[in-house]
Amino acid sequence: MSVTEAPPSTDEQRVNELVDDLLEKFPPTATDPKVFLGEQYDRGLAWVHFPEGHGGLGLSPKLQKSVNERVSAAGGPNAAYRNPIGYGMCGPTVVVWGTDEQKERYLRPLFTGEEIWCQLFSEPGSGSDFAGLSSRGVQDGDEWIVNGQKVWTTLAHLSKWGLLVVRTDPEAVKHAGLTAFVVDMQDPTVHVLPLRQMTGEAEFNEVFFTDTRIPAAEMLGKPGDGWRVSLTTLMNERVSIGGAIPQKGSGVVAALVKAWQDLPEDRQDAATRDEVMQLWIRAEVLRLTNIRANQLRKMGDPGPEGSIGKLASADLNKDVWSKVVDLLGADGMLYGSYEMVRPETAMGADSLQKAFLRSRANSIEGGTSEVMRNILGERVLGLPGDVRVDRDVPWSEVPRN
Ligand SMILES: Cc1cc2nc3c(=O)[nH]c(=O)nc-3n(C[C@H](O)[C@H](O)[C@H](O)COP(=O)(O)OP(=O)(O)OC[C@H]3O[C@@H](n4cnc5c(N)ncnc54)[C@H](O)[C@@H]3O)c2cc1C
Repeated sequence: MSVTEAPPSTDEQRVNELVDDLLEKFPPTATDPKVFLGEQYDRGLAWVHFPEGHGGLGLSPKLQKSVNERVSAAGGPNAAYRNPIGYGMCGPTVVVWGTDEQKERYLRPLFTGEEIWCQLFSEPGSGSDFAGLSSRGVQDGDEWIVNGQKVWTTLAHLSKWGLLVVRTDPEAVKHAGLTAFVVDMQDPTVHVLPLRQMTGEAEFNEVFFTDTRIPAAEMLGKPGDGWRVSLTTLMNERVSIGGAIPQKGSGVVAALVKAWQDLPEDRQDAATRDEVMQLWIRAEVLRLTNIRANQLRKMGDPGPEGSIGKLASADLNKDVWSKVVDLLGADGMLYGSYEMVRPETAMGADSLQKAFLRSRANSIEGGTSEVMRNILGERVLGLPGDVRVDRDVPWSEVPRN
């Protein structure tokens, strides 16, 4: 520690000691990843801002960064890589809306990756306007019967559980008639079909529910809470996708700098150098913006700041990967194989060309860039709202195709 650095707080010391203990007793490179992650969870180091006993310590989420950095530096496993939707979105939703039984049942195997999760929000007719969705849930005693179709469901093919939102009251206005459930994706009435992306892979799916029975105890919140439950998921999704705080010069922009350095000297002209520098500056501005948003996000339930990071990172990723492929010259057109693959994780890319193709989805997934601009315009800048003719009408009376 240099003389100008503040000494670690009591909370930081406690977290550091728990990480010391974890790394000493369970050397990451010699321990089964699931065992290691289970031990990390039991020490409250999974999401430090979660309550004690449920993978956390009730501390500031800021302290999670140093846990993740230390585990990663020691060669430990990354829960978010294996179960990105579960770790980044479903876990934070279960902890806010779940009963103690649900937290006890779901969070540990979610963190260890023994049970993968998916998010079942979008439908063929309702993506950006997801509150207008049509899948139906009808109560039958202690159960709810679900029928309908979801789409673009990332990792549904590997999932044990899904975070599902359906319409349970068609006579209410669209936002009020929704209810959220945890659904067993391996139930025989749930059918998962691959959807192939431009990378050649199918990391997402169509999902069909036919008279799927869900116990009432698997509801998150109460009937009609589905919209508020989804907001918790969506705010966390934006941060999870766009809120990363890499070291200065690392992340996607490091690939760009490397592509520049690999260029033959006669192609390292001043104009290209300037373009690379501009992108590097944008990456640094985004990094600093995310640091600021992180300071504002005290107790793990982020606000509209997440939309800034989501929007800026989508644009930046697309521009950076375009430039990388540009710098590769003719090699940028070479692609390993378009053979259909069912990947083990989402957003993975094993080549620069694949990273370029995959990045095109960044301004769609997790809410489109147009929708992010609407949110920021209305909630942050206070501009006049989007036109919403269906807001005060019962959902059953809203025209749809
Ligand atoms: C790689 C990937 C993974 C995904 N994973 C999941 C997942 O796991 N679970 C899940 O539920 N969903 C998932 N999605 C779906 C994603 O959330 C939707 O694609 C997204 O919300 C947009 O919805 P849509 O595709 O229906 O487009 P639409 O809503 O039909 O939009 C079409 C176009 O109209 C624009 N538009 C729509 N409304 C407005 C408006 N009010 N103002 C201005 N412009 C507007 C949009 O920006 C877009 O350009 C995934 C999508 C992708 C690409």
